[in-house]
Amino acid sequence: MLSVEEALERILSEISVLEVVQVPLSRATGLVLAQDIVAQEDNPPFANSAMDGFALRSGDSVARDGQPACLRVTGSIAAGYVADHAVEEGTAMRIMTGAPVPPGADSVIQVELTRAGGVNNDYVEILQEVAPGKNIRPAGEDIRCGEVVLKKGTEIRAWDIGVLATLGYANVPVIRRTRVAILGTGDEIIEIDQPLQPGKIRNSNSYLLEAVVRDAGAEPYRLGVAADTVESLREKLQEALSYDLILTSGGVSVGDFDLVKDILIEQGEMNFWRINMRPGKPVAFGHVGKIPLLGLPGNPVSAAVTFELFGRPVIRKMQGHKGLCKPQVDVIAADGLQYHSRRRHYVRAHATWNGTHFIAHTTGNQGSHVMTSLLNANALMIIPEDTAEIIPGSTVKVIMLEWPEKESE
Ligand code: AMP
Ligand code: MG
Repeated sequence: MLSVEEALERILSEISVLEVVQVPLSRATGLVLAQDIVAQEDNPPFANSAMDGFALRSGDSVARDGQPACLRVTGSIAAGYVADHAVEEGTAMRIMTGAPVPPGADSVIQVELTRAGGVNNDYVEILQEVAPGKNIRPAGEDIRCGEVVLKKGTEIRAWDIGVLATLGYANVPVIRRTRVAILGTGDEIIEIDQPLQPGKIRNSNSYLLEAVVRDAGAEPYRLGVAADTVESLREKLQEALSYDLILTSGGVSVGDFDLVKDILIEQGEMNFWRINMRPGKPVAFGHVGKIPLLGLPGNPVSAAVTFELFGRPVIRKMQGHKGLCKPQVDVIAADGLQYHSRRRHYVRAHATWNGTHFIAHTTGNQGSHVMTSLLNANALMIIPEDTAEIIPGSTVKVIMLEWPEKESE
């Protein structure tokens, strides 16, 4: 049986990066830039005021004989407008934050450091001397035209969106999202809005997988459930061939009705179908035609765990990310655990920081059919193949499921 690491390596070696597309900026968060972003403009585009106040020549701000300078106010510039005349010696113009600095002025004094004068406030007293450049945000101070602001390969974060919007990128070149077909299998599976019937259970896997696929940044498409016949699965897989990746759940172990691996052999190529781990031994990987298929186990907990270990990195590789896997940290195990099989175990756990360490509690019964072990889990404890017992207080590694993927070494 393959180790988890060998399996992931074999899967990833068959996965290539998807094409570049232009997407509207408001849909670009989380996607990977396919080109350097080079500023075509300065930011700020023009010198503007950092304060509400008065634009003036700094030399005019000097007090004389103990008297504050008094300047004639020749106009007012609001944000969005341009002055129609220059500031000349002995004059000032009222100016708002963000308004372009008028010609002739080299500084702005904030309104709090002035006093209105004259009958119609047509004079202003300058109560403090200002240095040249004071309260002016020069053109290009932030970004120079021609500068590379974001590099190809960067994962676009929410704050980056503001920078791209500033520079006029209504659309950005990115690697497109993976379109993932999600297929359930099993005669026992009914839709989630149906009342239970004897022998039947609801299709939790397809919904769980839809949610995690979306969380990984891809586009999930639920294609329903194939019955436990070769014909039904063959037909459903035909439908799935227009996607980038097929995720199935169930039908991959050694039972008579475990069809996914048979159909991989028939319709394409089966790379492997077992991994030395728990939960999730029956994981199959191969191709249907040219489309990669990841066959996850039917037990919902196993499907959830194996998606994190294999499905998420596949999607991230397709979408051009450098970091494919969630980060691992050392934690202190709060609960004792015992293992009888020499398999890699992944224990659903809740890890918290206690001020000096991360402490991980298991989320209860770890049976791969126990849905409630998923509730409140934010980590997977990694129990190595050769470990027979975890003593409370010992250090173990966990995968932090809610932390961003780390860039691969
Ligand atoms: P299988 O691998 O098909 O033998 O399935 C293993 C277990 O997972 C069985 O108990 C199935 O009933 C269950 N199972 C399979 N598919 C689903 C599904 N879509 N939703 C919930 N449970 C499932
Ligand atoms: Mg089944």
